[in-house]
Amino acid sequence: MARPEWANWNGSEMPLSEVRVSVTDRAYFFGDGVYEVFRVYNGQMFLDRPHFARLRDSLAQMRIVTDVNRLEQRVRETLSHSGVREGQVYLQVSRGEAPRSHSFPNPPVTPNELIYVREYDKDPYAAYRASGIRVLIVPDLRWKRCDIKSLNLLGNVLASQAADEAGCQEAIMALEDGTITEGSHSTVFGVRGGALVTAPLEANILPGITRKLVLELADRCGIPLEERPFLVDSLHELDELFVTSTIAEVLPIVEIEAHPWKSGEPGPVTRRLQVAYRDYVSAAVGPH
Ligand code: PMP
Repeated sequence: MARPEWANWNGSEMPLSEVRVSVTDRAYFFGDGVYEVFRVYNGQMFLDRPHFARLRDSLAQMRIVTDVNRLEQRVRETLSHSGVREGQVYLQVSRGEAPRSHSFPNPPVTPNELIYVREYDKDPYAAYRASGIRVLIVPDLRWKRCDIKSLNLLGNVLASQAADEAGCQEAIMALEDGTITEGSHSTVFGVRGGALVTAPLEANILPGITRKLVLELADRCGIPLEERPFLVDSLHELDELFVTSTIAEVLPIVEIEAHPWKSGEPGPVTRRLQVAYRDYVSAAVGPH
């Protein structure tokens, strides 16, 4: 059985269940904070540099000031003390604690920094990577700065819940004009005529770390790329569909809203990218 989550709360290590936080934390009142999730393979954080770079960007956009070098050090120590080999690290920085008032506390307060390490008994997505997933298409109800990895995830939460209730594993979100943005917790890719299609990096999607790696892997495999918006109404023009994320890696889509997607099987380009992804992980962290 997986051991309980091991945490670091503002520099002190303890079991996650022992962390206590004030209700005046602005994360609680407003979702006023940012976060990152890292995959741990073989005791090592995968793609830690780009994750910390994105954290720096999110903090800068939200104007939360903290020492990210110290946080990095803390994350490494907490992971090492946890003893976890396979799992994930969650890192959250809130603006801090202050009496409830919308604008930033003045003078600024000290951010609250939470790290915890979760161990996996088994890879939570292994079976879905093999079989593919079912997805639901839902309206994108979110705000206009989805490029910031903020704690405010209500639109994503409602989308994900709608998918669950429909027996699907992910919700794909679309704007009112039909433009597909992203999954509730993943990036969406299509394949058309052998080329990858994915939405460009704009304020309406998160710049996925896995997205970037998959684009590099596709380039190495000689798979061309079209970075352009695509519409719900033109989904049928695509030959394959898949989603990516740090935890899910590359997940084929085989069913949309209870209808088999194309052959109802993961497509060949998706399969190639899954193999390339696994090879990349093994090269980075060793066999695991
Ligand atoms: N979009 C959203 C909304 C997400 O929550 C995630 C998961 N963090 C992703 C995309 C994929 O990002 P990444 O590849 O960095 O995990």
